[in-house]
Amino acid sequence: MPHDNFPAGSVWLVGAGPGDPDLLTRKALRLISEADVIFHDALVGPGVLDLIEPHTKQISVGKRSGRHSKDQATIDALIVEAALAGQRVVRLKGGDPAIFGRTAEEVAACQAAGVPVRICPGITAASAAVASAGASLTLRGVARRLTFVTAHPQAGRPLDLDWQALAAPDATLAIYMGREAAATVAQQLIGAGRAPETPVLVVVNAALPDERIIRGQLFALAFLVGAVSDDDPAVLIIGEATAAYAAKAPTASPSRQIRELT
Ligand code: SAH
Repeated sequence: MPHDNFPAGSVWLVGAGPGDPDLLTRKALRLISEADVIFHDALVGPGVLDLIEPHTKQISVGKRSGRHSKDQATIDALIVEAALAGQRVVRLKGGDPAIFGRTAEEVAACQAAGVPVRICPGITAASAAVASAGASLTLRGVARRLTFVTAHPQAGRPLDLDWQALAAPDATLAIYMGREAAATVAQQLIGAGRAPETPVLVVVNAALPDERIIRGQLFALAFLVGAVSDDDPAVLIIGEATAAYAAKAPTASPSRQIRELT
């Protein structure tokens, strides 16, 4: 397929999935093996990085919430520069490049420089999280919509989300970068009419060896995430669908949720 070619001087933005190298697509694996240089995020799993061939140049442009080792403009410039130098460039991103991945900026930078750029999708954190928990993101007749939302507050500004829309009982919310704002999220959703007992799932390091799955209810969300270290990625999934297959692992009683996590 000519569409999938990887000529010298071009860029592929590649989804590395949530961490488990077995969750890479075959196409991602091929592009990784054909690359001359790979620029990767901090969220790309160590098992995925182990697949990079020794002769391939590997450059970490790791970004973690609040601690940006390279800013976006620098990353854009590095990718473009490498491609203009005739390299096959892979920009390896955690999860799916299309979900909170700054893909638009990188595509625009390549296009502005006349560098061919394409995108290879990956498995996003929310998909991996519910799979590990044996749960679903949608549920026939119950959870008819799925909203991907980032709850990463902009410096000094209150979290400005459409709480009314997010509080709809038939919506599943997959909240990325939501640890810091967990208390606000729970308070605002309940204030907008979402049931305090709505089941929630917090999955830390989804699809990584140190994965943790925490179940609870919306009112206790801040307690549930309270035990998560700042360095570990966590995705918060809110909605009835998350409890649908959970009969085997009943939710802790509200008082236990709080006792266990404080
Ligand atoms: N493009 C990525 C998301 C990047 S935003 C994707 O599609 O998954 C970074 C946020 O994604 C983290 O703060 C966390 O909320 C979530 N995330 C990424 N990888 C994760 C993982 N392995 N486990 C849990 N959450 C993860």
